[in-house]
Amino acid sequence: MNLKEYCGIVGIYNKSEAANYVYLGLHALQHRGQEAAGIVSTDGIQFYEHKGCGLVNDVFNKNSISSLRGNVAIGHNRYSTFGDDSIANIQPLFAHFDMGQIAIAHNGNIINANRIKKKLVDDGAIFNSNSDTEVIIHLIARSQKTTFFDRLTDAVKVLKGAFSLIIMRENEIYAIRDPWGFRPLSMGKLDDATVFASETCAFDLIGAEFIRDISPGEIVVAGNEGVKHYSNVFDATNEKKCVFEYIYFSRPDSYLWGKNIYSIRKRMGEVLAEESFVEADIVIPTPDSGVPAALGFSKKSGIPFDFGLIRNHYVGRTFIEPTQTIRHFGVRLKLNPSKDVLKDKRVVVVDDSIVRGTTSKRIVKMLKSAGAKEVHLRISSPPVISPCFYGMDTPTKRELIASSHSTEEIRKYTTADSLEYLSIEGLKKVVGETGYCFACFDGNYPVEFDRE
Ligand code: SF4
Repeated sequence: MNLKEYCGIVGIYNKSEAANYVYLGLHALQHRGQEAAGIVSTDGIQFYEHKGCGLVNDVFNKNSISSLRGNVAIGHNRYSTFGDDSIANIQPLFAHFDMGQIAIAHNGNIINANRIKKKLVDDGAIFNSNSDTEVIIHLIARSQKTTFFDRLTDAVKVLKGAFSLIIMRENEIYAIRDPWGFRPLSMGKLDDATVFASETCAFDLIGAEFIRDISPGEIVVAGNEGVKHYSNVFDATNEKKCVFEYIYFSRPDSYLWGKNIYSIRKRMGEVLAEESFVEADIVIPTPDSGVPAALGFSKKSGIPFDFGLIRNHYVGRTFIEPTQTIRHFGVRLKLNPSKDVLKDKRVVVVDDSIVRGTTSKRIVKMLKSAGAKEVHLRISSPPVISPCFYGMDTPTKRELIASSHSTEEIRKYTTADSLEYLSIEGLKKVVGETGYCFACFDGNYPVEFDRE
């Protein structure tokens, strides 16, 4: 899988050394963004920030964490779905305005950000970054309403697309999910503190108890008056959770929208085996994301599970980004076939998705060179035919191999002996018929996009 994650966000209210907990939370959410990380904290008077490019461990050290004072903090792991990689775009974004200070961490992609920004610039606004998130700060600052909450609701009602937000002021934190609920955002409790995070695996690491998901269109405020919930801010909600969170993005140990990711992926593998059984000697995953689905496939088909590809965990993910040439090289850097496991075997290899097809082709070639007699490719999601405009960094439609090639053409390209995908019906059987965005599989975009 070569798709990029969105971002990971964390916030904690009312905990001494809050930045330490946010730092640990960002560690747990590292898989959602590896390009940059940042934390902003407050002691109720002043805001403190530290940001940088790279992994959480590269960005923070003991000194930088201890400089982030106060009982309230929010943090962000960045993968740039919008804007460029400059320091100004690293979140949380932090600004002064007439009501004090504000910091904001955003997961998602606001699809009408360019249109809003153009209008704001025409009206005299000066932007510090080219991140879509900065428009939210401007909208709040320019609202004519008299309370912060009214200004905030004024601002978020204008936005279209995906936004799970954690916003910090001097004495409170706001957690918000867009009315479609594309991105996850959960709430937890740690002693007297309230915690918010993109995924529940962040709660596990810091010892917090998961309370519930923030609902689509809901605003939760943790402040001096306790925790308050507002669910009537948007005119309507139309739940369209990103189904790719289940397929690939979220960590398998997270619980998302009432389901455990690992169990869901295993079930996808079971349904895939029901739909596309093939006689074979072993089932292997493409590590790590294909592991639960391969286990499910093995369980349902009765074909023994094994590890035929060994992953090198120490390859920096950012290293393999820039060009096709390096990406190809990267497959070999990342995965090595286990010849003893594969020799003379009929192999089912399970992956979570095919994007461009180049990685699958390399994997099939690698397995055959290692002695596999047959290679049967099984994909635990339907063909990706349309790009995502809600925060996932897919290639263009032209680059998505399934947008212009049939399954048989892709099979030929990858040189696999057979290729089958999980059907959309099969996917819906696992996750549910409604309440999800399936746009990258069926092209039905739940929110109209403009790319002005
Ligand atoms: S288009 Fe695909 S990746 Fe994007 S939000 Fe919808 S399901 Fe998720």
